[in-house]
Amino acid sequence: MLELSNIEVAYGDIIAVRKVSMNIGALEVVALIGNNGAGKTSILKAISGLHPLRSGSIRFMGNRIDNLPVHKIAARGIIHVPEGRKIFSSLTVRENLVMGAYLVRDRRAIVRELNHVYDLFPILRQRSSQPGGTLSGGEQQMLAIGRALMAQPKMLLLDEPSLGLAPLLVDKIAEKIVEIAAGGLPILLVEQNAKIALEISQRAYVLETGAITLEGRSRELLSNETVRKSYLGET
Ligand code: ATP
Repeated sequence: MLELSNIEVAYGDIIAVRKVSMNIGALEVVALIGNNGAGKTSILKAISGLHPLRSGSIRFMGNRIDNLPVHKIAARGIIHVPEGRKIFSSLTVRENLVMGAYLVRDRRAIVRELNHVYDLFPILRQRSSQPGGTLSGGEQQMLAIGRALMAQPKMLLLDEPSLGLAPLLVDKIAEKIVEIAAGGLPILLVEQNAKIALEISQRAYVLETGAITLEGRSRELLSNETVRKSYLGET
């Protein structure tokens, strides 16, 4: 469904991503794991059009998208949930969610999606008239994911959804990601928390200083010695 072929991303002279090829199928959760600065966010920004490619190509549902502006890529159905949530603090939870549906014309569809998000995250229904900035970190992450769902995405790009969350909340967010994927939405999940990412994905890529060094079934990577030592903190 999404295919990255030999992409390179650079910031001036610094090459952050080197010849990366990846693919995500229609019914998959695919994880991209790697340490700080490995280039994970740069790959997501390249997919969603926030940063241009230096070389290579990106195809979505058979068509090239790497030459399109951000809003057109979003309109094709690729919705990016950025690291650090980036919700609108002074807008209410409901207003934040409705903002996510800016591409949806049909008002009934917006109400339907809103109810769908509230069913998935009941806490957001309870907090619907509260300013987004007053939510806890975990609730803000739910809001960021909920806002992305309001756009009726065909694929989600999630950047570090577990960042800064207590372990119990990480588990809760992970459960929700599994639930969303089970509804038929493919997800590219970027995580520094390799354990959780490998537990909830079917396949994964390991990124080191801008290049893919390992890829395979997540279950197999969980027992791979290099992954265990370098990413799962085992000795
Ligand atoms: P993290 O988990 O810390 O966000 P990451 O794997 O997502 O890391 P990137 O944010 O993609 O990594 O960064 C990859 C490399 O590109 C790093 O060396 C980083 O310093 C560099 N980089 C990222 N953004 C810029 C920028 N705007 N200007 C210059 N260099 C940048």
